[in-house]
Amino acid sequence: MDVMDVAVVGAGPTGLVSAVGLARRGHRVALVDNDPGPASEERWERRGVMQFHHPHAFRPQAVAVLSGEVPDAVRAMVARGAEPIDRTGTVATTGGVVPAGAGLRSRRMVVERELRRVAEREPGVTTVLGRADAVLADRGRARGVRVGDRRLDADLVLLATGRAGHLADDLRAPGESADCGVAYVSRQYRLRPGAAFPPMGFPVLEFAGHDGYAAVVFPHDDGVFSALIARPVTDARLTALRHEAAWEAAARAVPLLATWTDPGRAVPVTPVLPGGRLHNTYRGQLDPDGRVPLPGLVFLGDAVCTTNPTAGRGIATSLMQVERLLALLDEHPADAADAVLALDAWCTERIRPWYEDHLAVDAAQLDRWAGVDVDPARPPTSDLVAAAAQVDPSLMPVVGPYLDMSALPATLTAVHPRVQEIYASGWRPGFVRGPTVDELAELVAASSGPAATAFA
Ligand SMILES: Cc1cc2nc3c(=O)[nH]c(=O)nc-3n(C[C@H](O)[C@H](O)[C@H](O)COP(=O)(O)OP(=O)(O)OC[C@H]3O[C@@H](n4cnc5c(N)ncnc54)[C@H](O)[C@@H]3O)c2cc1C
Repeated sequence: MDVMDVAVVGAGPTGLVSAVGLARRGHRVALVDNDPGPASEERWERRGVMQFHHPHAFRPQAVAVLSGEVPDAVRAMVARGAEPIDRTGTVATTGGVVPAGAGLRSRRMVVERELRRVAEREPGVTTVLGRADAVLADRGRARGVRVGDRRLDADLVLLATGRAGHLADDLRAPGESADCGVAYVSRQYRLRPGAAFPPMGFPVLEFAGHDGYAAVVFPHDDGVFSALIARPVTDARLTALRHEAAWEAAARAVPLLATWTDPGRAVPVTPVLPGGRLHNTYRGQLDPDGRVPLPGLVFLGDAVCTTNPTAGRGIATSLMQVERLLALLDEHPADAADAVLALDAWCTERIRPWYEDHLAVDAAQLDRWAGVDVDPARPPTSDLVAAAAQVDPSLMPVVGPYLDMSALPATLTAVHPRVQEIYASGWRPGFVRGPTVDELAELVAASSGPAATAFA
């Protein structure tokens, strides 16, 4: 394959792995981002990526791509305390190599810092600090990007600009988007010396579905973990959770969070971190007429698809796209437009179903929080199918692969008749023990104090 000059805009997980992967295939890469990088080992403000300090779980699909493309970064993550984990518990590594099928417990900062270090040292990658303002085109092809008054010429332009980026959005057909209906409030804690994470039912996160909200705990690297409340955005009363006193009162009252954040076990290491609105979005590569708008231009990662983060799928769906694009560029060395068409078709088949699944599941969750009963006559949403496995474990061979993302949501239709039977019998998934949303709102109102200072 001819050596290409590639401009990658966005040095988040998608852009970093793409840049290193392309450089290691012999291409010359300019990696553009306006973020200056970490200020120190423990400080990285990361303005523009609002979720950066919120909890992230790294699914096996994401770790598999990292291990394939940037094994040196994975070794560094593990050396810095990131924990490989599978269903049986923490798994040993040999020389920092994470076994196939394992996910990773880590703060996102640790993962991204090591990816960035590797990219900065990679001989074929030149990092460019600045904001890309425009994609340059000539004779119907992408020819590079403009960064301030600088022109970066390129044969291929990858836009990995994340959920907040809008560069060249006018070139492709409008995306689809729906509010997830929830917002995050989270805080990171560190275990006290000698303390351990409590036992967990699921390796990368522990989820508690309450009446009107959800509580989740994510263990990370080095004894650090995040406690999270995913609150309904329609209920303004819980916005006060951003106040330290309100958050701590809630953390003491919600059983899962109380166990983890017990002051005898752990101390907070960040302020309370409020989050913005969350959307499920999907946007393909093509223009409204279904054509490649500018041969040589590719959108990747969150710029294509975002899903409700409580399921922890975003980095997996982003890096799966990267892996596919790298393979397609090898398969279509002469024509990047063919690679883009093939990527778009693959995303429609393999990524879009997760977006559609979230639309249905998120709407159903909001309905349940509003007291709407399950209608057994209607095809059940995926979360209802997964819940039904509590009463009928014979569903697990179908539900398990969906939960771990090794099978697409459509595979669940095979068990819909049995699941509908279960709901028709009157069984309903319960909420876990703990305050209802009204009780939590009362507690929050009684405890609100000054807002926490910004995290830096
Ligand atoms: C609250 C929350 C929690 C999440 N939790 C999880 C989780 O548990 N597990 C999981 O797998 N996923 C999770 N996700 C999803 C995950 O964060 C995203 O999938 C991931 O950030 C996508 O990476 P990206 O590189 O595509 O985009 P980003 O990480 O958004 O990176 C985009 C980069 O592009 C840069 N940029 C944008 N425009 C320009 C420009 N014009 N010029 C120069 N630079 C530019 C930005 O500065 C940024 O560095 C979560 C998301 C949210 C919102």
